[in-house]
Order: sequence, then structure tokens, then C-alpha cells
Amino acid sequence: MLNPCVQCGKERVDGKTWKGKAGASVVTYTSTVCPDPDCQKIVDKAIADRKAKSTLLMKKKLDAKQAREKPGAVAVG
Ligand SMILES: [Zn+2]
Repeated sequence: MLNPCVQCGKERVDGKTWKGKAGASVVTYTSTVCPDPDCQKIVDKAIADRKAKSTLLMKKKLDAKQAREKPGAVAVG
């Protein structure tokens, strides 16, 4: 099995393909999806959750940085 689904272990199938640029050449990207739509939904949600978490973490870091850089602000943490 080349590309098993992380959720159920089934071989993932080609989903959508799209063209993108890599430097001067055009490359075709293919996203793979689980053959089971319900399972794919779970995988999608897990990815979205992870993304939201890291976005939140990044925002927190940025907020803390901005708070530190604010003149006259009391540095916390
Ligand atoms: Zn799956």
C-alpha cells in the first residue's frame, strides 16, 4: 500500500487535481482522498482542527510579541 488513509488504512484514491506553478514550469498537483467519504470527513476535520490550533498558537505568539513591543507596556510572560 503506497498511501494508506491515516484514519482507516484504506488505500487513498486520487481526488481533485489542479495545476500550479513551480518556478517557470507548470506542475500538476493531485490531492488524494479516502475512498470512504465519511472517513474523509473525519480526516478533513482533523486537519482543520490541527490547522486552527496552530493558527491560534501563532496568533497568541504574535499578540505576546506585540504586547512586548508596545511602548510603556508591562512585559508579561
Ligand atoms: Zn479512510
